[in-house]
Amino acid sequence: MHIQNKKRFYLMMGLLGVLIILLGLSIYMIWNAISSSNAPVQTTSDAANPAATNSTQGNRTDTTASQVIADPNDTLVLVNKTTNLDEDYLPSDLVWLDLPGVRETQLRKEAAAPLEDLFDAAELKNLSLYCCSGYRSYQTQKELYSENVKSYGQKEADLVSAKPGQSEHQTGLAMDVTAESVNFDLLESFGQTAEGEFIKNNAHQYGFIIRYPEDKTAITGYAYEPWHLRYVGKDVAEEIFKNNLTFEEYLKTS
Ligand SMILES: [Zn+2]
Repeated sequence: MHIQNKKRFYLMMGLLGVLIILLGLSIYMIWNAISSSNAPVQTTSDAANPAATNSTQGNRTDTTASQVIADPNDTLVLVNKTTNLDEDYLPSDLVWLDLPGVRETQLRKEAAAPLEDLFDAAELKNLSLYCCSGYRSYQTQKELYSENVKSYGQKEADLVSAKPGQSEHQTGLAMDVTAESVNFDLLESFGQTAEGEFIKNNAHQYGFIIRYPEDKTAITGYAYEPWHLRYVGKDVAEEIFKNNLTFEEYLKTS
């Protein structure tokens, strides 16, 4: 009798186990069905972010579309609308900057010290520069670009912000700088401020260039950004400055 009860007990437990597994499976399947029926909605909103659609389509169908860079660690790496950094690229030598800034930000080691020297030189002229944005990950850029497309529409967004993988900020060699005179913002009028004039005329001595100069949109693909500094090293920066070139033009002629 006792043994009989025990057998029945195990049988019941077994059945209960099977029931629990079946219940789990049905919940899983229902959940899947719900998620896939939501999927088209998600895709539509993603379509507003041309980053995802363009890069995948472009790679397959258009040979002139973005190419992945061979050596992303090169100081002279060219990142623009036709050469992209890989989604997973992360500079290995990023350092936090010990400089006044709108937020904490990072640069690659080789660019950090020269930027500090540039800020010191400005300080000697009683000008205070502030870091705004240095290194940005692919993911951060993706979110930023998406927000810009939503706010300004794609055409305008493409003039002022880069698609993920196409931002120099992912190299860890670019820094947006600002000043109190423009309310710590990134405005074209920064170019006419004393701080803007200072970096325009002196950044090259520290290895930086104004990456998106005025009236060079046809070459760089971006509107004038007097705040966006790109580290290329002193020799290259001086040559670019002296000959009034864009980085694209310099690389073609060098
Ligand atoms: Zn920038």
